Formats: sequence, C-alpha cells, structure tokens
Amino acid sequence: EPMLLEVRNLKTYYSTKKGLFKKEQRAVKAVDGISFFIRKGETLGLVGESGCGKSTTGRTILRLVDSTSGSIIFNGKDITHLNGASLRKYRRDLQLIFQDPYASLNPVHMVGDIIAAPLRNYQRLPSKEIRKEVMMLLKKVGLPEDAYHKYPHEFSGGQRQRIGIARALALRPKLIVADEPVSALDVSVQSQVLNLLKELQEEFDLTYLFIAHDLSVVKHMSDRIGVMYVGNLVEMASKNDLYEQPLHPYTQALMSAIPDPDPRKKKERIILQGDVPNPVNPPKGCAFHPRCIHAMPQCLEEKPLLQEVKKEHYVACHLYK
Ligand code: SF4
Ligand code: MG
Repeated sequence: EPMLLEVRNLKTYYSTKKGLFKKEQRAVKAVDGISFFIRKGETLGLVGESGCGKSTTGRTILRLVDSTSGSIIFNGKDITHLNGASLRKYRRDLQLIFQDPYASLNPVHMVGDIIAAPLRNYQRLPSKEIRKEVMMLLKKVGLPEDAYHKYPHEFSGGQRQRIGIARALALRPKLIVADEPVSALDVSVQSQVLNLLKELQEEFDLTYLFIAHDLSVVKHMSDRIGVMYVGNLVEMASKNDLYEQPLHPYTQALMSAIPDPDPRKKKERIILQGDVPNPVNPPKGCAFHPRCIHAMPQCLEEKPLLQEVKKEHYVACHLYK
C-alpha cells in the first residue's frame, strides 16, 4: 500500500518560563526528532508511558501545535508549513478523536448540531442534506435517531465517544488520530468502541494513528506499533514482531507486564525502576539508561539512533550493532 503520512525528523519543543522573574526560558523537548510513516488503510499504534510525547506527536501531525523542525508529508504533499486557506483544506482530511469525549463536546449544543458543525463549516450544503448526513452518521456509530435532539449529558461515556467519532467522520477524513480514545471508558464498553472503530475503518477507508498507554488495547487495534520514550521512537515493528520479539529493553519491560494467556509460558516480569525523566533535561546518551538493566558505558555518552535491524523492525539501542 502507498504511504499516507510520512514524518521526517520531527521536533516539537515548547518553551516554559522558569524562575522568579520568568526570565529563564527552557525548552521542553516533547518530541525530539522522530521519523515514521503510515500506509494507507493501516493502523499505527503509538505506546509509551504518559509524558513520552505521544499526544504531542499526534497534535503536531494534525497541525494543532507547531513543529520546531522536521517535516510532515501527507498524501505526497509537505504540509509542515501550510497556513490559512491551504491548511484549512488539509484540516478536513485529518481529524482527532479525544480521550475525554465529554470535555470535547459543547454541553449547550444538541448532538445533531455538534455533528453537523464541521459540515456547516466546510460544505455549503442545504440544511436538509446536512440533516440527512447527520442521521446517517448517527446510525453508523450505533446511536438512535432521536439522539439528534438530545444533549451530551444525556448520554453515557461510551455513547459520548460515539458522538465524538461521528463528528470526526463528518468530513470523511483520510487520517484519524485517536488519542487514548477508550481509556476514560469502563472496561465493559471499551471493546465495543474499539470494534466500532475497526468497522468504520473498513467502511470509510480510514487510516489511524492510534495512541494509547494500554498495550493490550494497542495490540487489538494496530498493524504496526511504535514505542516512544522521552520524545523519541525507541522501537518500531509489526505487531507480531513487537509482541513476539521485543528488542528494546524499554519495550521488553512494558511487554513483561502483560499477563500471558498461556500459563505454560512463564514470563519474568521486568520491573521498571524510577520515572520517565523530565523532557526539559533528559539524561545524556540513551535517555533510558538510568532505568536500563543492560546499560553500558557507551549508553551514558552516545544517543542510539533508530536503525532497521530486521525487515521493518527498527530499534534505537546500542545492544544491536
Ligand atoms: Fe539500555 Fe544502552 Fe540500549 Fe539504552 S542504549 S536501552 S541504556 S542498552
Ligand atoms: Mg497523552
């Protein structure tokens, strides 16, 4: 399949003002030089502990936050620096599904109007057509017709997420960034929403960047997976390669925490010591070295680069040379 998105050496730094007189500017290196691609129709999962830069990556790609350097190629076109009308044209192709559907739905608007808003903003359709479209979307996401005239607070968490999904679909986007779309939901409804996302992917030819910290959720959804640590991709592989043979010590630790359904396979749990470091001042060399059980002298000095060690299996670690 052809590429839909290609990200090259992308950096997104924020500046924070620190100190008594807020004179000292410090850069938070939220995303610190990542490269990857997503093929048309696939789901790329992004995992890592919170604070690793997953959400910032998603928002940078959607052009909701500005990148510091690097490039974002969407459907063969460099959209990194688009502005105004030309950016607006691309915005409709790129949509976001939020973690907390309630916070992202305006409580004083009827559900029908919430879903219709992008259509009204982007398309000059007669209101009858818009209404028809909204009804179709409600049906596609499994909501009853009378949802149109109700308000977000009248729905459960899972139903609200369906409203958010319908709104994201309204403009027939090509790429959807789903940022922890089920982590605020009860476990019992999580799989319903995940399965809905899968069905819609088929039906609407969608490509997903699926962000989550829950490895079993990412496994269920993804074709390929990238593992992030302090603003960097430390491993990237197909789902099967990553789960069967994780190479990076960070991935290995994350994987060891998932219970194996096969009780004959005895897995040793690798406990991660310490916390994710502050991205203002990440450790020198390999940022994972303070927590790595394999750290060598070289790891304290030299930052490992992401390299392909097997076909489409990439890892950034000095153990693989
Ligand atoms: Fe561990 Fe060194 Fe590999 Fe980093 S580069 S993960 S410290 S072995
Ligand atoms: Mg996040």
